[in-house]
Amino acid sequence: MKIALIYPELLGTYGDYGNALALSQRSTRRGIDVDVMNVSITDELPDADLYLLGGGEDGPQRLAADLLKKSSLKQRVANGAHVFAVCAGLQILGTSFCVEGNDAYEGLSLVDVETTRGSVRSVGELLSQVGENKMVGFENHGGVTTLSPGIEPLGTVLHGRGNNGHFDGFVTETIWATYAHGPVLAMNPWLCDEVIAKVTGNNLTPLKTAADQLYAERVTSLSSR
Ligand code: GLN
Repeated sequence: MKIALIYPELLGTYGDYGNALALSQRSTRRGIDVDVMNVSITDELPDADLYLLGGGEDGPQRLAADLLKKSSLKQRVANGAHVFAVCAGLQILGTSFCVEGNDAYEGLSLVDVETTRGSVRSVGELLSQVGENKMVGFENHGGVTTLSPGIEPLGTVLHGRGNNGHFDGFVTETIWATYAHGPVLAMNPWLCDEVIAKVTGNNLTPLKTAADQLYAERVTSLSSR
């Protein structure tokens, strides 16, 4: 599996590069070869099966959006590549987002969602229901994201804010997007495996690690709040 970590120098404030490490570790332990490529702002986007976009502050987010609008990402997704995006990355995939005040800034329009500025920042632990599983993480963002009709949220918020206090992120045939940092794929082993299975087309053998216990403890703690 070829994974491209996009602009970690811009979209790396919250340690979301750990998503690449989790994907890589859990794949390698199943005998799946993984190549993680760090894509710097001066690089062309390489060919990859999965593009990872992390979170970031407003200024770097806007620069990343400008670079990505000129890049081949949209074309690559149209050709079947997958994307896993967190927070600023999620906002960039939409039609527009607000940074540094209320000015709308054009996104990649890969998915029909729009982010405006909320009246307060959403900061703290995030717990959501994603299918049969609970997803844990933390959030820190000023944006409020609205999905157009027909766009499916990734999860329903049980604690925290996510997109708007009700739903978190969105999901399409080839894209996952969430407000959860953590890194979220290290904190939620089941979600990491879901991404690996989808991108590689493999049925994964179960893998027990210390992450399972940490995940269970976090779910218990957040569920009682
Ligand atoms: N700059 C964006 C916001 O505040 C995204 C922040 C983030 O990625 N955590 O909404």
